[in-house]
Amino acid sequence: MYKKSYTGAKKTGSGGFGGSRGPKKYTGPVKKGNNPFTFRDMKRGAKKQKGQLGLDVSMFVRKAIEKTETVAFHPEHRFADFHIEERLKASIARRNYEHPTPIQDGAIPHILKGRDLIGIANTGTGKTAAFLIPLINKALLHPKERAIILVPTRELAVQIEEEFKEFARGMNLASVLTIGGVHLDKQARDVRRSPNFVIGTPGRVKDLIDRKFLMMPDYSNVVLDEVDRMLDMGFVKEIRHLLSLLPEKRQSLFFSATLERGAKDLAMKFLQDPIMISIPSSRATSENVDQDVIYSESREKKVEILHDLLLKPEFEKSIIFLRTKYGAAKLAKTLKIRGFQADAIHGDLSQGQRKRALDGFRAGKVSVLVATDVAARGLDIDGVTHVINYDLPATYEDYIHRIGRTGRGSKSGSALTFIDKFRA
Ligand code: AMP
Repeated sequence: MYKKSYTGAKKTGSGGFGGSRGPKKYTGPVKKGNNPFTFRDMKRGAKKQKGQLGLDVSMFVRKAIEKTETVAFHPEHRFADFHIEERLKASIARRNYEHPTPIQDGAIPHILKGRDLIGIANTGTGKTAAFLIPLINKALLHPKERAIILVPTRELAVQIEEEFKEFARGMNLASVLTIGGVHLDKQARDVRRSPNFVIGTPGRVKDLIDRKFLMMPDYSNVVLDEVDRMLDMGFVKEIRHLLSLLPEKRQSLFFSATLERGAKDLAMKFLQDPIMISIPSSRATSENVDQDVIYSESREKKVEILHDLLLKPEFEKSIIFLRTKYGAAKLAKTLKIRGFQADAIHGDLSQGQRKRALDGFRAGKVSVLVATDVAARGLDIDGVTHVINYDLPATYEDYIHRIGRTGRGSKSGSALTFIDKFRA
């Protein structure tokens, strides 16, 4: 069945794939319909199989819905309609945002009115701008307003700060990143200067509070982004504690992909008369991702199949997911030895290493990013052509988050999930 085309380790120089990337011979794999390893053919008999984790394999198989089937969204508002400062409108125009996305359309007017809000929305929906635009506007009108934005991962914090800087360019508003993996001293100094926006992860924020650098009572605006993921990551105690330190009179904005597993309790406890804006479910956001599975019969063959896939020219920018940091590091190393421009991103790396890997991937110097779920959560990277689940995700929700890294915006993407027969 499986024809081996890997013929031994081959290292490229410092350049890109060029023609010299790994072995050139490609003998076979995954093309929908004729792929001996895919599930779609087997599925005809409506037989369901269980993956290693009790997940129904058929849920990883889905044809991307053709773009013609997507319903056009007609926003109720134009950016020009929002009661925001002209300079902020100019920033939005500079970013070439023509119309508000659904979450922006629904949320911005309410946030501008000062309402607490629960936004049920995934990354990729424009939710960052949905809270940044009104909060920046508030800071422009009332320079003493302070906002703290809590997010599950360092990368997401970096991404949000970058977006903040874009919007707030030339507006004399300060922001500080408070994330782990970098020295605390500078962050402590910056935070003491009382910036308008603090963007950070719960652990480091708590550290800065405990050391009395960060004064939560000064922050009358709070955003919790990806609440469900923060709870998944076990931050519930920190979050409850941090929220309890905020002033009672405040504006609180929660964003989460779902309101399950404690997110609702948290919202009910800490938000006042919130308005809820829910945009189409995460399942819908994966509709333009073509999904299929690949069977692997042994550990050795699995890496060969992956190798062959990555050689295919259409695998221009791939993210490979594994469940453990160790596994991700090991696979990245293997791929590098085999000549691929691969890098890893997981929680055991320093902030600098993670940033380098991401920057390289964004810029196209790295074409294969090997990641763990937590590290890759919320990443917004343009042009990811393929998501490969080398390890099965722990839950279907994790799966949806993983595959949501591709097929973003109007582009379609592809997701392949390995099913290890040797583990069954
Ligand atoms: P987010 O869900 O906040 O991670 O945003 C996903 C991507 O959508 C980011 O690259 C944003 O820059 C982009 N984006 C946000 N709002 C808009 C908009 N109104 N029009 C076009 N792109 C947008």
